[in-house]
Amino acid sequence: MRIIVLLGPPGAGKGTQAVRISHKYGIPHISTGDIFRSNVKEGTPLGRKAEEYMNQGHLVPDELVCELVEDRVSKDDCQNGFLLDGFPRTLFQARHFDDYLERSGRELTVVLDMQVGQEVLIPRMAGRRVCKNCGKTYHVKTMPPKQEGVCDVCGGEIYQRIDDTEATVRNRFKVYMEQTHPLTEYYRNAGKLVTLDGALAPDVVFGQITDLLGD
Ligand code: AMP
Repeated sequence: MRIIVLLGPPGAGKGTQAVRISHKYGIPHISTGDIFRSNVKEGTPLGRKAEEYMNQGHLVPDELVCELVEDRVSKDDCQNGFLLDGFPRTLFQARHFDDYLERSGRELTVVLDMQVGQEVLIPRMAGRRVCKNCGKTYHVKTMPPKQEGVCDVCGGEIYQRIDDTEATVRNRFKVYMEQTHPLTEYYRNAGKLVTLDGALAPDVVFGQITDLLGD
């Protein structure tokens, strides 16, 4: 059983690594950001509550997030482990998640902390584009699709997330430093933290992760 948390600022490459880890180890990739975005798209009550916070780069209130994650990781497909991407993001969420694991008799395997400086993140994020249909990410300069605006994988439309503009990215980084960065200390003290250099090439980072997690 592998229960993995991916930590790090927006744009550190969590999503890219999450897809690979999930595939290699056969565990579901749970991205709270993706869950919120699909709720916003479908106009659900949760989506309506979350949208305003998200568009401004603020965090969605803890109670909404904790409930959502608890429901999701209690499902059958998570019984052999899961990978969390974008959760926990506050100390409240981390403590709540620890309580949940204890209640369900499970143990966190590792927290992979992807560190990258703001000078790398801002251009990385501001140039990021995402497929509306399958979620694959691109970058206007470093990883453009073969045909502009069209996803290589599924032919879906590629767009810029409303919260990937430079001003919002700066705000999201500030929110990360204030509210999420303290979790590194929390998980270090718990003996769960492994720090990775998110400025390295994705293949190199993934190699380090598989060395750590084994086959
Ligand atoms: P992400 O795709 O992980 O960058 O998440 C996009 C947005 O969804 C964030 O900027 C928050 O507004 C919201 N969000 C996602 N995960 C969380 C969380 N664990 N706690 C609070 N807000 C979240």
